[in-house]
Amino acid sequence: MPSTKAYTLFLSPLFSPSLPVLHAMSGLMLLSLIPTVLLGFSVVLSAAELQRFEHAAKADGSLSLLVVGDWGRRGAYNQTEVALQMGIMGEKLDIDFIISTGDNFYEGGLNGVDDPAFYESFTRIYTAPSLQKQWYNVLGNHDYRGDVEAQLSPVLREMDSKWLCLRSFIVNTEIAEFFFVDTTPFVNKYFLEPKDHVYDWSGILPRKSYLSNVLEDLDMALKESVAKWKIVVGHHTIKSAGQHGNTVELNLQLLPILQANNVDLYINGHDHCLEHISSSESPLQFLTSGGGSKAWRGDVAWWDPKEMKFYYDGQGFMSVQITQTEVDVVFYDVSGEVLHKWSRTKQISSAVL
Ligand SMILES: [Zn+2]
Repeated sequence: MPSTKAYTLFLSPLFSPSLPVLHAMSGLMLLSLIPTVLLGFSVVLSAAELQRFEHAAKADGSLSLLVVGDWGRRGAYNQTEVALQMGIMGEKLDIDFIISTGDNFYEGGLNGVDDPAFYESFTRIYTAPSLQKQWYNVLGNHDYRGDVEAQLSPVLREMDSKWLCLRSFIVNTEIAEFFFVDTTPFVNKYFLEPKDHVYDWSGILPRKSYLSNVLEDLDMALKESVAKWKIVVGHHTIKSAGQHGNTVELNLQLLPILQANNVDLYINGHDHCLEHISSSESPLQFLTSGGGSKAWRGDVAWWDPKEMKFYYDGQGFMSVQITQTEVDVVFYDVSGEVLHKWSRTKQISSAVL
């Protein structure tokens, strides 16, 4: 069942079962704790470092979930209305969990584990019974303007058990594997031109090795994955016609890894819109679900209509339903109206039987 208590922390085959605590630690912490004699394995060890969670699919092997992003505004800018419709659709689809694509708390993340924004923008807003499932959250750039460790803290999970936020991690449902990537540290301008903003970079410096570890870990995990569907989630866009547009750093560094490993979907927020872009280069689909609250920015760039399948400037959310042979994506507006649908089918391969 999808509760925090049900999760199994997978043990890497490189570790004995007596070392599960080490497995859950960050790469840098881990390396610092490994005796010198084991350092010859450090490259392999760091490449197996993404924390993994197991989330059971339904008895028939299918899975359904909702995706929302850019939401935490104490209910303002239609956050409450989007939450209401998510609750209705969550019930209808019997969802297994919810993905948040980041920018969880505006304007500047949480200022600590006791920040009332956690209750006022999350617990108090997403109250529908169907939304009391596990939320898998990534961090957005606005979250990095606050106390990042607070959002990652188990203290929040004790306050509201549906909350789970980590930097980069994996959720395996067997039928599909979800790879959550911490994209904010990839973006140069937050480091080079932070303007008036102060970002909390504790835990990710030195930046170069942090980023190369994330990419290496992701590449390795994707290569090892035997899931029928591979889905990568990050806050920042790879392709988008919205206000922020493409994220150059992710196009250069992340996109080639997704394409080389046959990733099916890249799901993000950051642009406050709902959007579906396909690609002529690969089957990879780019899905933006960043309509959790403030939207209607009105600055949409031209995009090749062969690739632009759908763009909606307003609020809403997305559902994903997955079976062994099909994935169905649907976008909804603030009234719960269906705006766009997309499906892909795959043959049942012998590898998953
Ligand atoms: Zn953002």
